Amino acid sequence: MGKRILLLGAPGAGKGTQSKRLAETYDVEHVTTGDALRANKDMETEYGTPRSFMEKGELVPDGMVNEIVEAALADADGYVLDGYPRNLSQAEYLTEITDLDAVLYLKVAEDELVERLTGRRVCSECGTNFHVKFNQPEEEGVCDECGGELVQRDDDTEETVRERLSVFEENTEPVIEHYRDEGVLVEIDGEQTPDEVFDDIEAVLDDA
Ligand code: ADP
Ligand code: ADP
Ligand code: ZN
Repeated sequence: MGKRILLLGAPGAGKGTQSKRLAETYDVEHVTTGDALRANKDMETEYGTPRSFMEKGELVPDGMVNEIVEAALADADGYVLDGYPRNLSQAEYLTEITDLDAVLYLKVAEDELVERLTGRRVCSECGTNFHVKFNQPEEEGVCDECGGELVQRDDDTEETVRERLSVFEENTEPVIEHYRDEGVLVEIDGEQTPDEVFDDIEAVLDDA
């Protein structure tokens, strides 16, 4: 069985960037609720559309994401889970549906998060992340991986970023404390270069 990795961190901590590498290196599935929701933004559900919550920087209702995660994990032989759980009720749900081999927390200070998120650019074709300063593509506005157009996410504006960070503090920090109390949380310094962060993660996983 492949490794079952949970990657926690605030918006902008580098979860997407590291998950992509982890999925390749360990040959596991990258399960990310953010991408799944963006791909179905205008889907009508009993709660409304994902877009109506995401645009404001709010969490979508648990029922929307629990189903996505349960189906994705059931199909995966090993995974890196990114963007879920974001509150304690999702964390409880996760405990009921799977076991984890490693729980990692990418720690990054708030000022740095704001700069990372407002400068993030995303490939509209393949989803690869870039940054206007920290991770520039070879040609401006063009994806290195596939040639797709780089765009700014609707919710990466300064105002919505502030809202997302406050939602993180209120709802997701308790999740991090929960895993810390259980004694399974491994903290990684997320302010290093992407390569250094990846090395630290690998060192933990090769022991897990
Ligand atoms: P998350 O998935 O946690 O929201 P991302 O992986 O999308 O975070 O990273 C947010 C932004 O910061 C992106 O523009 C990415 O290129 C950039 N980034 C990721 N890791 C680092 C790092 N270690 N140092 C500087 N910038 C980074
Ligand atoms: P980031 O890591 O940059 O915050 P994501 O792509 O993970 O961004 O999430 C984008 C948005 O999707 C969130 O602001 C929220 O509205 C919604 N979302 C993603 N995952 C969840 C989740 N587990 N629970 C509730 N809402 C979620
Ligand atoms: Zn691309």
